[in-house]
Amino acid sequence: MNVVSLRGVTKRFGEHTALDQVDLDVAEGEVVVVIGPSGSGKSTLVRCVHQLEPIDGGAIHLDGELLGYEHHRGGLRPLPPRARAAQRRRIGMVFQQFNLFPHFTALRNVTEAPVRVHGRDRADTERAARELLERVGLGDRMGHYPRQLSGGQQQRVAIARALAVDPRVLLFDEPTSALDPELVEEVLGVLRGLARDGLTMVVVTHEMAFAREVADRIVFMEAGRILETGPPDRLFGSP
Ligand code: ADP
Ligand code: ADP
Repeated sequence: MNVVSLRGVTKRFGEHTALDQVDLDVAEGEVVVVIGPSGSGKSTLVRCVHQLEPIDGGAIHLDGELLGYEHHRGGLRPLPPRARAAQRRRIGMVFQQFNLFPHFTALRNVTEAPVRVHGRDRADTERAARELLERVGLGDRMGHYPRQLSGGQQQRVAIARALAVDPRVLLFDEPTSALDPELVEEVLGVLRGLARDGLTMVVVTHEMAFAREVADRIVFMEAGRILETGPPDRLFGSP
């Protein structure tokens, strides 16, 4: 069963076609790494899956359920905001710029959405959040504010936050591109751990060694299309 499936997805910005009839399936537990030149549509692809950008054609399904629309009188109509929000919560996203709340501690950054948006119990959520922060190696930084953390630590908080809603799939949009080179590895290490734990992931990255090592499948994009897709050995050749 595919967790995410895109069929004929097209996204335009004015005259510019950022995604041109993209088909992509991501199976349960699969790690798909998206590579390609700057401007090829990688970021747009994951932003469309996360419903940050409306699409102009095609369809995206999550666990077989159409994203963003519902059937109505033989056609489709946009989902009401609450139903849309509920769908989006089943998708975790990690951005290049960590996007943490600056005035909340690491722990509060992780608990805020589950408690405020999902109405989950605060004590349970905090317990889970502490475990997640331990899992990303920040057990000793829970009370720190983002400005007191390195970029790598902030990004790991962002990963814990994305995991806090038990997403069906985690999307990463160049999660290490904003980091100083010496901090890249600590974030990639967390991604490796998540991949080993069987999470379903779509990772946009320029880190080719990571792609080769961790990806079940590489998707190579160019000019809004998937030019090629396959296991790393086939796309890169055997090491
Ligand atoms: P990549 O992530 O591969 O670098 P993007 O998905 O960011 O590529 O962008 C694909 C193309 O769409 C680029 O030409 C980019 O300039 C354009 N684009 C992306 N977002 C917007 C936007 N909000 N408005 C207009 N053009 C955009
Ligand atoms: P990235 O390299 O991570 O894709 P960009 O700097 O291309 O980031 O884009 C950052 C933001 O600006 C995104 O929200 C993207 O949608 C938007 N964007 C990208 N290209 C354009 C563009 N040509 N016009 C307007 N917005 C754009």
